Amino acid sequence: MNILLLGSGGREDALAWRLRQSPSCDALIAAPGNPGIARWAECVAIDPCDPNAVVGLARERSVDLIVVGPEAPLVAGVADAARSVGIATFGPSAAAAQLEGSKGFTKDLCARVGIPTADYVRVERESEALDALGRFAIPVVIKADGLAAGKGVTVAMTREEAEAAIRAAGDGPMVIEEFLEGEEASLFALVDGARTVALASAQDHKRVGEGDTGPNTGGMGAYSPAPVLTPDLEARAMREIVEPTARAMAEAGTPFSGVLYAGLMLTSDGPKLIEYNVRFGDPECEAIMPRIEGDFAALLHRVAAGADFDAPSLSDDTTMTVIMAAKGYPGTPAKGGAIHGLDKAGQVSGAIVFQAGTAMTDGQLVASGGRVLAVTSRGAGLGEARERAYQAIGVIDFADGFYRRDIGWRELERTA
Ligand code: ATP
Repeated sequence: MNILLLGSGGREDALAWRLRQSPSCDALIAAPGNPGIARWAECVAIDPCDPNAVVGLARERSVDLIVVGPEAPLVAGVADAARSVGIATFGPSAAAAQLEGSKGFTKDLCARVGIPTADYVRVERESEALDALGRFAIPVVIKADGLAAGKGVTVAMTREEAEAAIRAAGDGPMVIEEFLEGEEASLFALVDGARTVALASAQDHKRVGEGDTGPNTGGMGAYSPAPVLTPDLEARAMREIVEPTARAMAEAGTPFSGVLYAGLMLTSDGPKLIEYNVRFGDPECEAIMPRIEGDFAALLHRVAAGADFDAPSLSDDTTMTVIMAAKGYPGTPAKGGAIHGLDKAGQVSGAIVFQAGTAMTDGQLVASGGRVLAVTSRGAGLGEARERAYQAIGVIDFADGFYRRDIGWRELERTA
């Protein structure tokens, strides 16, 4: 089949790499893609958020399956437009993408069907928010509604900090919620209507600095599986969180189709939902793709086309992804820094280097964004995956880049 993949990050490089290896993939086109994705796909420079441009390209190339990487095209209704002209699309409708796009929508759904999550109130105005604050213990969490790329959330450790966050946000939709104590883990599930299967678990590191310190980022590294999400806890999260969500969305006439990424807090009362994302995580996707066996493209097509599907087999290997970012990230990243040594890094046993913010300038690969490379490796356990990932990083020459040396520390300490 002919496949069109939307996006241009490390997540999409990993998806492209995995789709390309699928026996049922004949042609792979990426829009807009990047120099890494160009290793596996033909890159076409269209705007992935423009439904007409996407449908036009898909028709011109007789595309059988569109795979949507990031959330923005989903929220923009690209999946609706493609499905309305009969093109199977892996990714939810704009209505179902509200599970990510609106925190208030998701919290209300959880309350309606009894999904375990933090207690909350939804408010519209600053004054209402300040009044509501008194009902919560400290720490407390303040969240702007809507997509804010992780920057709309304040975990306030004092009442003053909470008030300051509310004042800084001003009037507008906001969620105030109870602080949940525990360890975070991500669960990825394939969902079509009421049909759900668990795909894989992962844990990521959001803070820029070692020891999980400093500002939040899109993610500085990840590993899969996440052993803290034991088979029992995973089954419980599917039963108590993912399955009732899928049923509720289908019953509301807005069935979800695609990958549902549940951000969980593993509390002493069991897994609770922190947030949903309606697409693969980045960098979790880079860590998960090497573990998936079988014809991945055929699996995504079955989900997209409303056919029966089963969970794919997963390799027993553990994988780790370490992000190399441009200096300055998550503030203003240095652009244009030259990158050498990727071929040599790819020769390290079990390693593969996915590309995120890269560009080709006069035949030289350079940094063009905050997160630049997603250095990924597999191993018999987390220790071996880690060793190989850092060995691959060691042969990469990216003077303007930096990375965290402690990806996986929590799990490595537990198993030491
Ligand atoms: P992102 O998409 O980058 O994960 P987001 O803006 O969608 O971020 P959330 O995932 O809801 O926001 O929150 C960001 C982070 O804040 C979480 O990963 C978690 O560490 C922390 N957090 C959010 N809600 C809570 C909560 N109720 N209790 C404790 N920590 C929380």
